Amino acid sequence: MTIEYVDAPDVKRRVDEIIEGLGLSYIKRDFVFCVRSRGSRSIRTLARIHGLGRIWQKTLNLPPIYIIEVISEQYDRLPEEEKDKTLIHELLHIPKKFKGGFRPHKGYITRRKIEQLYMKLQNTFSKNK
Ligand SMILES: [Zn+2]
Repeated sequence: MTIEYVDAPDVKRRVDEIIEGLGLSYIKRDFVFCVRSRGSRSIRTLARIHGLGRIWQKTLNLPPIYIIEVISEQYDRLPEEEKDKTLIHELLHIPKKFKGGFRPHKGYITRRKIEQLYMKLQNTFSKNK
């Protein structure tokens, strides 16, 4: 089975809200795209992030771009809270420099950190209501 990619405007909308809500101003929203994939064989992956590497940027004269891919079979059945945490997790992989590379999990992307940011997000959203 081949993987199918479809637009994910719902995910993009939420990602933008999260970037805004958490004040992640180093993330250039216009260069973060979202896609939904179907037919992936991964059972445990909810989402992943792809970055346009430097060689592509240099050779094709493109800016750094990130794509957040949600795995439809896994992500779509999650409760909203877990979806948000998944998106926060993926956004944390984007380094402050926003150059197309990634931050690794180790010591940076932790369950605790994600919980904290999720709480922060809830506070921001409830203030803006
Ligand atoms: Zn990760």
